[in-house]
Amino acid sequence: MTTSSKTARLAAWDHAYLWHPFTQMQEWEQDVPLIIEKGKGSYLIDTEGRKYLDGTSSIWVNLHGHRHPQLDRALTAQLRNIAHSTLLGLSNPPAIRLARELIRLAPKGLQRVFYSDNGSTAVEVALKMAVQYWQQQHPTAGPKHSFLHLKLAYHGDTVGAVSVGNIELFHARFKALLFPTLEVDPPYCYRCPLSLTYPSCGMACIDPLETILKTRQRELAGVILEPLVQAAAGMITAPHGYLKRVRDLCTRYHVLLIADEVATGFGRTGKMFACQHEGVTPDLMAISKGLTGGYMPLAATLTTEEIYRAFLGRYEDWKTFFHGHSYTGNPLGCAVALANLEVFRREKTLPQVRKHSRLLARLLRPLVSLTHVGDIRQCGFMVGIELVQDRQTRSPYPLELRIGHRVAQACRAAGLLLRPLGNILVLVPSLSVRPRELTKMVAILHRAIVQATEDRSASS
Ligand SMILES: *Cc1c(COP(=O)(O)O)cnc(C)c1O
Repeated sequence: MTTSSKTARLAAWDHAYLWHPFTQMQEWEQDVPLIIEKGKGSYLIDTEGRKYLDGTSSIWVNLHGHRHPQLDRALTAQLRNIAHSTLLGLSNPPAIRLARELIRLAPKGLQRVFYSDNGSTAVEVALKMAVQYWQQQHPTAGPKHSFLHLKLAYHGDTVGAVSVGNIELFHARFKALLFPTLEVDPPYCYRCPLSLTYPSCGMACIDPLETILKTRQRELAGVILEPLVQAAAGMITAPHGYLKRVRDLCTRYHVLLIADEVATGFGRTGKMFACQHEGVTPDLMAISKGLTGGYMPLAATLTTEEIYRAFLGRYEDWKTFFHGHSYTGNPLGCAVALANLEVFRREKTLPQVRKHSRLLARLLRPLVSLTHVGDIRQCGFMVGIELVQDRQTRSPYPLELRIGHRVAQACRAAGLLLRPLGNILVLVPSLSVRPRELTKMVAILHRAIVQATEDRSASS
């Protein structure tokens, strides 16, 4: 493949100056990187003018396609007013309007919006709010400053978010930095930690969670989880009713429920927020990725009036929430987020996602019969395909075989960009994806799985 001189120059500078996230740079430096210069709808276009289907929604953020005219316009219109001013001691129209819109759309009972700028910080804010809430509102309830979370959870990469996460490969080496937490097994039906089968199990995996809540409630500030789908763990979908049960237990044992909707929020599951599938209102809710339709880094932590009021007092009561970021409530981000929500209404995005996710389920069905496909999990537009070495025993591929990566490379050669999670292939199309684009994505993925898993060195 020949490379233009522009690409060659950029590639050399990339190799000389950049350090990419979650990337082994020694390996990276050996190849000419794919440099994305433009986007249009469901496609990304590189510096050579080649088009690729964006199978990850640019890592789960893009909703209405790239270069959506209304979102583009919202950004340029805001630029004519101001790019940024602070929420520390000042306010701004887009931040105010967006807060009001978010409260309209959020699960009923959430009343306040605290901005930050990425999913990890939205989670950090939720953790700190929970701890401070208990100190100020119920000081005798106990030293309630620990958290219960699920194994395989992912809540971001900052130290607090890592403390409540549990992806061994990412987190193990930072153990010394982390605060102690309590953890329980997740509802991972394909690899049930209790070796039971749903639904005859009666969701027995809830019992250990209840035991911890019952016995440790005086220590626990909150339970944090990703509602419905543990995304970074490989799109592990919880059985219906699990979230509601956790909500009820949190209420019963006086522990706050923190919903991390960073991945599941904004239509990804077919409703605006995943909690709404089970009529659940969390006490705190973290949102980010889709908030701006994939245009700008922006995040928020939503909470109830009950929690908000615990922070009220005279200045010298020191009940202020002492937290904030330089770009909190950034007007450009908030303006494009408002336009994002407007597009949901105008293009009837949610009903369309529900319709197209049924199509996606139909398209995925033939993949179930492939020799090395162990499990296909889908919730709306979040799909995880777990590859296994042996379907009978469900034995996983050794990570060093990098089977997911091999499939992704075969996909890339055929014009589809994916980012696997170990042995789990992940497909997260933009909500605006067209039926024929979905069909093409799944067809490419199907052929790539066959190609990569039937290569004898990978399957033996
Ligand atoms: C991506 C993600 C985060 C972290 O968000 P960043 O913006 O990458 O910091 C937190 N929680 C969940 C569920 C996520 O998927």
